[in-house]
Amino acid sequence: MDNSVQQQAQKCLACKKPLCKVACPLGNDIPNVLQLVKNQQYRQAVALFGHAFGELCGYLCPHQQQCLGACVLNAKGNAVNFPLVERWLFHNSPVEICQKSSTLQGKKVCVVGGGVSGLTFAIKVFQAGADVTVFEPNKLLSTLYTIPSFRLPRQVLDNLVERVQSSPIKIVCQQVQPSQIATLAEQYHFVYVATGVGEARTLGIPGQELATTYQQCLLGKLCGNVVVVGGGNTAIDCARLAKSQGCNVTVVYRRSEEEMPAFQTEVDHAKNEGVLFQTHQAPVCLEKQGQNLCLTVAKTVSHNRKSLQITNETHQICCDFVVSALGNNTSPFASLQQQALPNVLFGGDVAGGSLVVHAIRDALLCATKLEER
Ligand code: SF4
Repeated sequence: MDNSVQQQAQKCLACKKPLCKVACPLGNDIPNVLQLVKNQQYRQAVALFGHAFGELCGYLCPHQQQCLGACVLNAKGNAVNFPLVERWLFHNSPVEICQKSSTLQGKKVCVVGGGVSGLTFAIKVFQAGADVTVFEPNKLLSTLYTIPSFRLPRQVLDNLVERVQSSPIKIVCQQVQPSQIATLAEQYHFVYVATGVGEARTLGIPGQELATTYQQCLLGKLCGNVVVVGGGNTAIDCARLAKSQGCNVTVVYRRSEEEMPAFQTEVDHAKNEGVLFQTHQAPVCLEKQGQNLCLTVAKTVSHNRKSLQITNETHQICCDFVVSALGNNTSPFASLQQQALPNVLFGGDVAGGSLVVHAIRDALLCATKLEER
């Protein structure tokens, strides 16, 4: 037993109005989980979460804005480190994927997308007795495999994938097109669409074809001087990974640091590791100069999230690689939500969620809806 996990549980005050729980997008019953940990009732503690992917939350949630940041013991500089407890619990007492009820017995359920939301839903409805098929053309949880291992250890993902693959949930390696959803809705009692985000956004400037995609960057093949364009978690992942491999890295972002969508803790890590930031700089042109690239950026002025003025004040940054890490376009599946087919549900990124915890929350809400029908 990890003493530090037990120490975290011991210091919880079991607040009557637990702010940690309020701040959790899943409303996890944190005080009661910690009580069960204190009593060494680990399986019961895991069961309180109601899903299988707590270890992912423990690694990937913005804890400072959630349970950790909300704990009343922050006032004494001694907040309960719930993410540590969550990681330990799910690692040592993983959820068993077996049937637990017969609420959905006789129902055929199809899940389009083998990411966090799709698999959370698949496990939940399988546990309720449904016959479940997941369509996924790539490896299960494939987008999480692009997160650098310093943020999410590969073994955690491998274990989760292995557990799903060895369960009775059917996995079909097949790409489903948006036009096929209506047919699936006729073949299955219920369809859950969790296909994730669309294609990666391009820089939208002359010379954009010279940029490296964030996916290529995350394969870890860059060297020399690297400029990462973007301000989200993917941009910071790219920057930290390139830095860890010996590159000189500068992040270029068109707004202020405060407006960056990336978690502040990740930005702080990047800074501590020596990543440089140029904020209020928008890329306007990318050119080749001999063996190098030259990115021209223009100073911007922003007053709020809606307005951004690009000035004529420009400068050039010469480097070996420019990485486009501007996030992704909306999935072509998203517009299907307007069709409102009664037995088709949507969740995760395709429905607007952006965090792992949102993907899980959508899946749990949809699975509950099904069980209540
Ligand atoms: S806010 Fe902190 S002390 Fe209070 S119940 Fe939550 S974890 Fe325990």
